[in-house]
Amino acid sequence: MVDVNSLDAAAVHETDSVDIAVPAILADAVDLARTAVEELGEGKVGAHIGVVGEDEAAASHYFEADVPGYRGWQWVVVVATCPGSDHATVSEIVMLPSADAIIAPEWTPWDDRLRPGDLGPGDLLPPALADPRLVPGYIANGDPAVDDVVLEIGLGRLQVLSPMGRDDAADRWHEGQHGPGSEMARAATSTCDTCGFYLPLAGALRNEFGVCGNELSADGQVVHAHYGCGAHSDTPAPKGAGSPAFEPYDDGAVETTALRVPAAPAEQNPSTP
Ligand code: SF4
Repeated sequence: MVDVNSLDAAAVHETDSVDIAVPAILADAVDLARTAVEELGEGKVGAHIGVVGEDEAAASHYFEADVPGYRGWQWVVVVATCPGSDHATVSEIVMLPSADAIIAPEWTPWDDRLRPGDLGPGDLLPPALADPRLVPGYIANGDPAVDDVVLEIGLGRLQVLSPMGRDDAADRWHEGQHGPGSEMARAATSTCDTCGFYLPLAGALRNEFGVCGNELSADGQVVHAHYGCGAHSDTPAPKGAGSPAFEPYDDGAVETTALRVPAAPAEQNPSTP
């Protein structure tokens, strides 16, 4: 019998940690096990790796598996007998990965795999059950603009943003490309809250966020009140027809002067002492 430790650890399941003696009738059933895999017709069978005892009436024979796409996998054939029997039978055939086998990564549920930007046209994306970012629309959510209207007229959406969901969104927008720390904002001389294109949000986020209505800038995007860009409505018009960022070049103000060419040195007569 082959020592359990001589087999690939990944191919040996936990019960094999105890070395179980393999009855000779099971240890000798290599050809029976090989033929069983070959008759399966699922792929080639390679060299016999070893045999491991499962209990006093069963043992597993390991073979290399030469199956496309299953590098490093092994055929495992469980053979069994019963006391007094003079032959073994095949109980089970499986393919198991060895330590260097290529196996699929651990399954990740789809909702853990989703990332911002994954939602495409026509996709349906329901919120998670008990999503903490949402609360039922009939309870106060802390946003006076929503609470006042909903409580007064008794209407409301089925769910509304919870304070936590609102804070999450505000944090993302603050840290995002239209937040006050972005490169564009740091280079701007004026902020959105003083811009004519700035459309403040309603509700609790009104003081901090609005939507840009300038098609040449962050059109339709939520911008922080202290974001800013060079298309601010108060950006002064350029002098002349140049860029507002640079002084125009006035070639009428250029003074032209003639170059003074230095006189050539007088030629010396070689006979002159
Ligand atoms: S044009 Fe620029 S400064 Fe004005 S709201 Fe849009 S992003 Fe802000």
